[in-house]
Amino acid sequence: MPYNQITATGTIAPGHDPVGPTGKEIRDLIETTLNSDGFTFSWSARRHQPYEGTLDTGASIINLYIYAWRIGNGGRANLPSEKRIQIQQGVDNVGFLRPITATNKTLLLGVYDSPSGTPIFAAWDATANATHTQKSCQVQVEDLQAAITENIHQCTDSRGNIIYTFLPDSLGDYIDLVSAGNTFVFPVGTTGTLVAKVKAATLPTRKKRTIKSTQKVLQQIQNLSSTEKEVITKQRVGQGLFKDLLINKYHGKCALCGIKTEQMLIGSHIKSWKDSSDAEKLDENNGLLLCAHHDALFDKHLISFEDTGNLIVSTTLNASEQAELHISAIPPITVTPGMKPYLADHRSKLK
Ligand SMILES: [Zn+2]
Repeated sequence: MPYNQITATGTIAPGHDPVGPTGKEIRDLIETTLNSDGFTFSWSARRHQPYEGTLDTGASIINLYIYAWRIGNGGRANLPSEKRIQIQQGVDNVGFLRPITATNKTLLLGVYDSPSGTPIFAAWDATANATHTQKSCQVQVEDLQAAITENIHQCTDSRGNIIYTFLPDSLGDYIDLVSAGNTFVFPVGTTGTLVAKVKAATLPTRKKRTIKSTQKVLQQIQNLSSTEKEVITKQRVGQGLFKDLLINKYHGKCALCGIKTEQMLIGSHIKSWKDSSDAEKLDENNGLLLCAHHDALFDKHLISFEDTGNLIVSTTLNASEQAELHISAIPPITVTPGMKPYLADHRSKLK
């Protein structure tokens, strides 16, 4: 049966239903997404649906009941673009019946394992599904696709209930901002949709959350040595927003050799992390996207760059070492005005 799917390039064409994700993969996705995005999330119960967890947004603690299933084909041949989650019979519906407040929320989620690269969430109105019994919730594949370009997209189901589709990056803001009925209650004097609110909130609030959660981690590891602290906090920042900013700036490639394998890439600080202010820690001018090899050379101050972008090599590396490390293959870099103060700091530490 030719049901429409999102393709690897983000278009829509008839194709195979994605196999995943499994329940465990969905739970892991929720957990890692929220924690890498500057929120602090932990599960308190995850054996049966609804899963339960606690989300620290930086401003408040939200208790969560989470229902989540894979999004698959709708199964109606005359509606080839229809996708759905199937709410399983026997699922405890206590969460659906729970009042949704600022600090207690129920989520009804589906995850489409999109071949385009990033899983796509759909979120339905939990309150409208409070009397579920073997019920399915529908979403159109075109509305899932819209999340790829819009990050978060609003649409409605056949009963007129609001659905949001979004990329994992918007999950935390969705949770933070949504209220009963899958809508958002705006403070007096503001207008706009939840979509606009999430988009507006994302970058500045992510920066604040990242700084806050980094400080929290630092507090938690006070007993470790200063070197261990630096490694752990650098990893935490490096894995999150800072790396995302640099992936965007350098189009997902090592600035020196073009390696594109994301697991090999590191958001490398020019002025060292421990010497940077909070704002500098997340300033994309203070970073290069580098592969592990080039990050090690740069981070250990064995190479640096002039303001013209030309390479400088530490005199501690002899000719045979330089040959082994393929130093001569390193091209000049593009230096923008904002990078110059950071590069001056880096050069001052060249070995
Ligand atoms: Zn490289």
